Amino acid sequence: MHILLSNDDGYFSQGLTVLAEVLSALGTVTVVAPDAERSGASNSLTLDRPLMVRRAPNGFYRVNGTPTDCVHMAVTGLLDVSPDIIVSGINHGANMGDDTIYSGTVAAATEGYLLGIPSIAVSLVTRDSHHFETAAEVVATLVRRIQKNPLKQATLLNVNVPDVPQGALKGMKVTRLGRRHKAEPVIKTINPRGETVYWVGAAGPAADAGEGTDFGAVATGFVSITPLQVDLTHYQQLDVVSHWLAD
Ligand code: MN
Repeated sequence: MHILLSNDDGYFSQGLTVLAEVLSALGTVTVVAPDAERSGASNSLTLDRPLMVRRAPNGFYRVNGTPTDCVHMAVTGLLDVSPDIIVSGINHGANMGDDTIYSGTVAAATEGYLLGIPSIAVSLVTRDSHHFETAAEVVATLVRRIQKNPLKQATLLNVNVPDVPQGALKGMKVTRLGRRHKAEPVIKTINPRGETVYWVGAAGPAADAGEGTDFGAVATGFVSITPLQVDLTHYQQLDVVSHWLAD
């Protein structure tokens, strides 16, 4: 089995390194990852300049582009063999609810899914993450499961893992995405040259976070597994908008 790994925290990140170590027991692992942190890159492709691929001392390919660039390039020309499965992560921090819209981690997996390859995005839910082994073992379990018994439909799974030792996990729950409150305001400050600059504010706290959601599962010690789709059509609004237009 050929496993392609990417992430949005950069090729040097601990989460990616641990994931590569653990998954190498299951097959051939190739890593193609951004050469800098690109968290929040979403599904962006670099179209205004060429991309360069360099080889890090540990064998990882590093790219001066986005997570989506990495997976797109790996599958459409860089690699001789198409991967059987793509895993993105392990992200340093949660990707739940609205985070999935902005996440480069989720985007790298989404790109694999769009190219027809089963793909998993995995995140450890605390920023000062410690238990990457826990998340890596969860992914290994899922990869073995996909290998033995593939899902009938194209697979895009968003996985969030509590930052606890493996033995402390309560189990796995299949969830829907929750929602966050509105983001915090931008932070206005002055740079050393006296110019006004702005920092994008923090994500809002969890709002829709009860039973059945990704937030709810993780808060109660379970791994959250959300199957994602890409179709953004609001089906319930099709008739509403049609009537609105006809009026
Ligand atoms: Mn990240």
